[in-house]
Amino acid sequence: MTEKQIVVLGAGYAGLTAATRAGKRGRVTLIAPESRFLHRVRQHETAAGHPEHRPAVAEVLRGRRVRHLPARASRLDLTVRKVFLDNGDAVAYDTLVYALGSRTAWHGVPGAADHAYGVERAGEVAERLRTAERPGTLAVVGGGATGIELAAELAEAHPGWKVRIVAAGQVGGWFSAKGRRHVHTVLRGLGAEINEHRTVTAVGPEGLTTTAGRIPADLVVWAAAMEPHPLAAEAGLTVGPTGRAVVDGHLRSVSHPDVYVIGDAAEVTVPGTGTLRMGCATAQPMGRYLGNVLAGRTDKPFAFRYAVQCLSLGRREGMVQLIHGDDSMRTSVLTGLTGRLIKTAIVNGVVMSLR
Ligand SMILES: Cc1cc2nc3c(=O)[nH]c(=O)nc-3n(C[C@H](O)[C@H](O)[C@H](O)COP(=O)(O)OP(=O)(O)OC[C@H]3O[C@@H](n4cnc5c(N)ncnc54)[C@H](O)[C@@H]3O)c2cc1C
Repeated sequence: MTEKQIVVLGAGYAGLTAATRAGKRGRVTLIAPESRFLHRVRQHETAAGHPEHRPAVAEVLRGRRVRHLPARASRLDLTVRKVFLDNGDAVAYDTLVYALGSRTAWHGVPGAADHAYGVERAGEVAERLRTAERPGTLAVVGGGATGIELAAELAEAHPGWKVRIVAAGQVGGWFSAKGRRHVHTVLRGLGAEINEHRTVTAVGPEGLTTTAGRIPADLVVWAAAMEPHPLAAEAGLTVGPTGRAVVDGHLRSVSHPDVYVIGDAAEVTVPGTGTLRMGCATAQPMGRYLGNVLAGRTDKPFAFRYAVQCLSLGRREGMVQLIHGDDSMRTSVLTGLTGRLIKTAIVNGVVMSLR
């Protein structure tokens, strides 16, 4: 009997975790451009100029029956079950795992894509800061977790620069009152300026235009929103309102059951928990579950409960917000060095559990 061809697209938290587990039993082809793991939850550190921690993909795959093709998928044909690559090759599959993650969403804001840096360009931000003739002003757009981590890290690493965080709503508005207070106290302590309820309507070479006036900035980092990779919708997988591919309780596409979708690319609703948000916290458990499904270790539906939300706030401070299983806030938070150490342990644990 010929072995079934499992093809995994994307080597992020979801795809790489699924591939290593599935590759313990079957033969897997992993398609992703990078030779080093893209540790996205540390990209704010890269932007601040700290050393990168990215294990080699080959090292993570060592001892597994996984062939890594360093290429990009440019088109999927779900009828003939083929993935077409940017190098002109095509790869046939019996089972496809779609884990292409997400990327910066500009939402059509004029000038944003031209004048602001998405988080993907963290290395270029570090270079701009390193080579600047003199310190200036830096705006971080977005009051979510990524924007907060960026603003804190950049303000701490570059105290000569004036860092401004700009949010359409509140900065850290979804945290408990205690958590939100802590985030604001730390950001202000690092010298960052907090601008809330200011929607950015345009970005130019001199900074931001917002619904409440102009905010000058020499350098703009955009962390306002992420959107799923468009290939799923282009290929004809059923997608939800945010462009994520809708999956069933076993993480199979509702329109194409031979395609599994995991990580930021998937719109998955877990009974009792709700529709999961994009995050490493949800992507890696999906990868782990699917790897076990493909290795024949389980046929139960995917189950998931949240436990904590955590932030790094520079190198010395952190925050762990305790939450209920459905992602709603508890009142308690752990802060200071304790919060920082827990966050570091979680981030390191993510890499260890890729295998
Ligand atoms: C600074 C920062 C901090 C964050 N902090 C947290 C946090 O504390 N907690 C949390 O839960 N989440 C956090 N996130 C979000 C988290 O990083 C994402 O939700 C997570 O990376 C999603 O994992 P994924 O495996 O679905 O996709 P990704 O990590 O985006 O990986 C996608 C993979 O697909 C590959 N790929 C893309 N296009 C192609 C193509 N055409 N062909 C082949 N391969 C392709 C990529 O190279 C990559 O290997 C943070 C994000 C950022 C930027």
